[in-house]
Amino acid sequence: MSDKKIIINRSKCIGCGSCVACGEGKIKFINGKAWADNSDFTQEGAQDIIDLCPVDAISSGSEDEYQQSYEQQEVKKEEEDAEDC
Ligand code: SF4
Repeated sequence: MSDKKIIINRSKCIGCGSCVACGEGKIKFINGKAWADNSDFTQEGAQDIIDLCPVDAISSGSEDEYQQSYEQQEVKKEEEDAEDC
């Protein structure tokens, strides 16, 4: 059952790659920092990912919290800018 969204604070992310490596293919790098690609995790799975981060850049939240996060908006803009090139 999927019930949590991973939310990554990209301003804190140092790009260590731990969450990308263990994120079930749902977390990727964009411009050298991690981003949860609209990913659903179980509560337990989300906590496993949160615990991996050495700089406490990862949290979990609801769909609304994920959509409203600054990081989500930032990545959408980065992807749109990349498409314009
Ligand atoms: S574990 Fe934390 S610091 Fe490492 S890539 Fe993921 S968000 Fe960034």
